[in-house]
Amino acid sequence: MTYLFCNWKMYLTNNEAMALASELATMQIPKTLTAAVFPNTMDFIGVRDALAETSFAVGSQNVAWVPQGAYTGATSAHLFHEAGAAYALVGHSERRHVFGETDEDARKKVEACMDVGIVPVLCIGETKEDLDAGKREYRLKKQLRAALEGLDIPVNSLMIAYEPVWAISAGGASDSCDPDVAQEVHMWLKQELRAYSPAPFSVLYGGSVTPENVVSFTACPAIDGVLVGSASTHTNQMRALLTACA
Ligand code: PEP
Repeated sequence: MTYLFCNWKMYLTNNEAMALASELATMQIPKTLTAAVFPNTMDFIGVRDALAETSFAVGSQNVAWVPQGAYTGATSAHLFHEAGAAYALVGHSERRHVFGETDEDARKKVEACMDVGIVPVLCIGETKEDLDAGKREYRLKKQLRAALEGLDIPVNSLMIAYEPVWAISAGGASDSCDPDVAQEVHMWLKQELRAYSPAPFSVLYGGSVTPENVVSFTACPAIDGVLVGSASTHTNQMRALLTACA
C-alpha cells in the first residue's frame, strides 16, 4: 500500500478548497493507494462532505491535546474525531518552527490522537543547520524519543513523516531530498522505530514532492508514501500525482 497524503496548509480560500475537493471527487484513486487530504480547519467539514462518497480520507493539520474547554482558538483531537478525521498531522515543521511547538507538545498531541482513535502522522525532520552540523540523526532520534518513549503503540495506530525542514517548499521552488538519501534515512528510521514497537510503522517522505519526482520516492522500498504540500493544492497536479502513484 502506498500513501498519498495532501497537506493543504493555509494555501486555499474556502471557495478554492471546495472547488478542489469537488474535482478530487471525480478522480479515480488507484486501488493500491491510500489517499487523504488535510484541509485547513475552516474547510474541514465542507471538504469532508464533498469527499464523503469517495475513498479520500480527511485529516487535520494540527490538534489541541485537551478535549474541550476554555482554550481559545484551539480545535482538539476529540473534536476532529467527532467530525470524521481519520488522521492528524502532529509536529509539522511549520508548527514547530513558525509557532514554536516543542517536542513535548508533539507528544501530548500524539497521545490525544491515539486516545480518540485518530492516527497521528508524527512529522520529524532536521533543519539545514542540523544537516550542516552533521546532526540529522541526533535531531530525528530526539524528536522520536520525546514523542514516543514509553507509549503503548498498537499496530497501525501511528505513522511517521520524514520531512527535512530544508526540503519543504513553503510554496516556492525548493530542493527535495535526494531519493537515495531519503531511502537511507527511512531505512535507518525503521531500525530506530523498533525501539518503540515491534510492529512496523509506515514512514512517509515529505518535502517538495511533485508529479515529476513522486515516483523516485515511492519506488524506494523503505518509503511507504509521500506527504505533499504545495503540489497537492492544484487540481492538475493532484490528477498527475494520482496517475503517477497508480
Ligand atoms: C509539507 O509541508 O508537509 C510539505 C511536504 O510541503 P511541500 O510539498 O510544499 O514541500
